[in-house]
Amino acid sequence: MNLIILAAPGAGKGTQAEALSKHFGIPTISTGAILRKNIADGTALGEIAAKYINDGKFIPDDVMIDVVKDRLSAEDCKNGFILDGFPRTLAQAEALDASDVDIDAVLTLEVEDETIIERLSGRLECKACGSSYHKQHKQPKKQGICDNCGGELTTRADDKPEIIKERLETYYKQTAPLKTFYAEKNMLRTAVGQDAVADTTKAVLAALED
Ligand code: ATP
Ligand code: MG
Repeated sequence: MNLIILAAPGAGKGTQAEALSKHFGIPTISTGAILRKNIADGTALGEIAAKYINDGKFIPDDVMIDVVKDRLSAEDCKNGFILDGFPRTLAQAEALDASDVDIDAVLTLEVEDETIIERLSGRLECKACGSSYHKQHKQPKKQGICDNCGGELTTRADDKPEIIKERLETYYKQTAPLKTFYAEKNMLRTAVGQDAVADTTKAVLAALED
């Protein structure tokens, strides 16, 4: 299955992508994670990404399209993949559409803005493996330490309140219109985000069966 998850920042794309990745045995391609890793490693791509990401802005389309095409051509994507964070603009969606990659479904997660802001403001992320936690709702067993890998938990630079607002605005302006793009192709599947992660996963699997 070749799947896209298209939803607002903080809607739970990464969390559901992880669940689906286990369920279907296919890799998740998170463009945000790829960019953050490149920033941490100080690569040329990381240098470009850092100029945009911490202001809540998008990285230029041509850069992102190359990154994703390259990643999707890897051997581990042959039996399917989950795209988390791409496409985010019409130009990216059109480039994917014109490529030889076939997408089976586009999943969207519906979550209220207030919930998104509350989630992102309390989010903690592992510096090493990228696992997500929340200061109130999903605390790690040991404070400040990742349950998965023992890495250090930090607040992402773009999870500051003023940047969160910027990211939401960018999402509504540039990414939300893609729902119409895919709905017109009859590819859009909608799941309503629930309070509990496992309940959202159930809703997601039900939406994908339709
Ligand atoms: P969440 O992690 O909660 O899903 P998010 O969707 O805002 O939130 P990421 O997907 O991790 O976060 O992306 C973080 C940032 O990386 C974006 O705000 C943007 O600056 C950049 N980015 C990621 N994917 C793309 C893309 N396809 N096109 C342009 N910029 C991107
Ligand atoms: Mg994410």
